[in-house]
Amino acid sequence: MKWVGPIVLKFGGGALADPARVSERVRAARREGFGVVVVTSARAGVTDLLAEVLRTPGDASVQRRVLERLEALHRGFPEPGGIHLDRTRRVLHLVERNYPADRPLGDRLMSQGERLAAVWLAAHLASDGIPAVPVEADHLGLITDNLYGRSSIVVAASQRHVRRGLRRILRSGRVPVVTGFFGRSQEGRVAVLGRGGSDYSATAIGAILGARRVELVKREVSVYTADPRRIPEARPIRWLTYEEAEELAQFGARVLHPLSIEPARHAGVPIVVRPLGRGGVSTTIGPANGHAPIRAITSRAPLKLFHLRVAGGGQRPGIAAEVTERLAAAGVNLVTLFTSASMLSVVVEPPAVANTARALAPMTGAAGGSRLERPRSVALVAAIGRGVTGEVLRRAHQLLEGAEGVVASPRSISMVLPLAKERRVVRSLHRTLVERRARRSSA
Ligand code: ASP
Ligand code: MG
Repeated sequence: MKWVGPIVLKFGGGALADPARVSERVRAARREGFGVVVVTSARAGVTDLLAEVLRTPGDASVQRRVLERLEALHRGFPEPGGIHLDRTRRVLHLVERNYPADRPLGDRLMSQGERLAAVWLAAHLASDGIPAVPVEADHLGLITDNLYGRSSIVVAASQRHVRRGLRRILRSGRVPVVTGFFGRSQEGRVAVLGRGGSDYSATAIGAILGARRVELVKREVSVYTADPRRIPEARPIRWLTYEEAEELAQFGARVLHPLSIEPARHAGVPIVVRPLGRGGVSTTIGPANGHAPIRAITSRAPLKLFHLRVAGGGQRPGIAAEVTERLAAAGVNLVTLFTSASMLSVVVEPPAVANTARALAPMTGAAGGSRLERPRSVALVAAIGRGVTGEVLRRAHQLLEGAEGVVASPRSISMVLPLAKERRVVRSLHRTLVERRARRSSA
């Protein structure tokens, strides 16, 4: 029998808050006549709760509070779900004693949110007459590298088992509900893909199955030329090339996980970012098809900037590698890094400040010879689109004044700015690069 690729539907935590609409979306996709694979993230707030436990692993009162919240969120659980609550309790115990010494244990704990969600969602779909079955990605054979915290999927190693497992369920007419966000490392432990990673699970699974498309269903987010809550002139973007989407994700438009584009591009599978509610605009990400190149302005704030004044200079050979390795070993997610004559600068998210300082401490003082300045609050503002760098330098160079760092590439220019400048710069960039261009092309 010839295999026909399914439709992959991924639901974000926010979308799960509206289960009736989720069922509706699954039903609509099934009516197209192909198999449907659902990928789920944890329910909203759950991954944050689990991450909180890992910040204070020895604190029994935090653990108790988190467990109570999890139980409340998944109340009315079917029988198999109870097993996941029991397991969560057991993993919490292990974490209390062995984390952070045993770092993969943290990933094991973080994965519980998706396991709970998959059982919950499958039961909900079943009660709406959709024959859904929960599937755990590590058991399925979704294989990752051994990085932990933000592992990557090894598609070649995952292909055989993922294909076989999911095709079996699809052929029997059922809908697999696969946990997003994690897989099994090459050494056999649970490994998470980094925050927002269930998009990445969905596109990798879509690529492996030769899906017709992968839909990332989100509660509210649409893809805009800037954050519409702050820039009323922002307009939705309907079409993006894989490359444009990668730049957008890289600079944290928060709509997509940065690694999620690559598997889809490689397999030529289109991605559709679709808001769950009625209003809102879907965005299709695919190969270049002649649509006008996009322009967008993104901003991530607040972030924390550390300057490391390096003995021997910020471009001393090996220095960047040493910094990134130390941060990776401490589980710190590096937002961006740049060097200058005397300094090496790193930008991290606020919860990572203490770990960053601790990780870099051995490089400082009498022994290391470098000096770490106190972190500053900054924003990472980026303009994305072909030709933006030239245009910023020609028309808006004054915006770069006071920037702590600027990185330019053929498709983007990003700047690290003092927090106080963020609003004004985002506004001006949008006016200069997006609105002005739109007026020119409609004139
Ligand atoms: N639940 C995970 C997170 O919040 C993964 C995801 O939502 O995509 O980061
Ligand atoms: Mg989530």
